[in-house]
Amino acid sequence: MLVVMRVNASEDDVRAVCQKIESLGLRAHSMPGAQRTAIGITGNRGELEPGVFEGLEGVQEVIQVSKPYKLVSRELKEDTTVIRFPDSDATIGSNEVAVIAGPCGVESREQAFTAAERVAKAGARFFRGGAYKPRTSPYAFQGLGELGLQILAEVRDRFGLVIVTEAVDHESLALVEQYADVIQIGARNMQNFSLLKRAGRARKPVLLKRGMSATLEEFLMAAEYIMSEGNYNVVLCERGVRTFADHTRNTLDLSLVPAVQRLSHLPIIVDPSHGTGKRNKVTPLSRAAVAVGADGLIVEVHPDPDNALSDGNQSLYPDQFDSLMVEVRQIARVLGRSIADPVATPVARRHAGAAAD
Ligand code: PEP
Ligand code: MN
Repeated sequence: MLVVMRVNASEDDVRAVCQKIESLGLRAHSMPGAQRTAIGITGNRGELEPGVFEGLEGVQEVIQVSKPYKLVSRELKEDTTVIRFPDSDATIGSNEVAVIAGPCGVESREQAFTAAERVAKAGARFFRGGAYKPRTSPYAFQGLGELGLQILAEVRDRFGLVIVTEAVDHESLALVEQYADVIQIGARNMQNFSLLKRAGRARKPVLLKRGMSATLEEFLMAAEYIMSEGNYNVVLCERGVRTFADHTRNTLDLSLVPAVQRLSHLPIIVDPSHGTGKRNKVTPLSRAAVAVGADGLIVEVHPDPDNALSDGNQSLYPDQFDSLMVEVRQIARVLGRSIADPVATPVARRHAGAAAD
């Protein structure tokens, strides 16, 4: 159930409704929107009696939520959630398409710094890089652990980038929360409910990747787990699903973007790197992702992909990333959106010159 407050309801009115909900042993989730505040109610076993709330000051209406997910639903909040970061112009879910770029894994300080310098120059405001890598083989590179997180924190200080990195269990989540700005939950953990609940108690935004064979409803329910614990800053990420196709690593399901946007207020971004697994497909599908209306991209970029310790085949060379940014910036503009400007690089200047000719 959700309680929709009047446009002119006061903060005291909202507080009184939340107190009423909590006095019944339930949890109140107050979501201020652009127009009005709605309060989601969770924790009830059966249906609630709307009359309990209808008479309270400032209440406009009480709605029974028809879907199994409540807090992620656009019924609760009409406008898309915008996630902001302290001391940064970076946002996710605003008119500016967010670009997160960097290597699959943090391998060394030098590798991370070289990648960060290039992606920052090209206009990315976020840096990605795994310190904990969930690998198919136990013998493959597993990440640098806390040292990797320390390097990422240095990247933030040096380049002003917002740090996105994966947590694979409770222990790593506590460290990621401490060092990074966004906690990534990977495809393999999308239904690790205990980890989702832990992420819901964290005080940093969560980037939740779609499981390899997750339906839209399963994906939204995973986000609901995080929100139900009180963390409302969740970003969804389409990263491809398993199909019979063998020309790609996964099949990038771009139709998920408008499907999510119809049902949920959460921002949805696209990962064309894991979605395709092949470098030559990353730029075309990045263009498509922006065209389909994604709120952001997360792209693997490595200074030396041929010697990368993970996902080299799908990692862009920095020059390719420069070109990608020039292209997606133009596509965003067609849709009335923007992508942060480059800090002029030779490639960006070349493209700008070519466009003017
Ligand atoms: C990653 O982002 O490096 C990663 C492991 O992604 P996914 O969970 O989508 O496979
Ligand atoms: Mn990867």
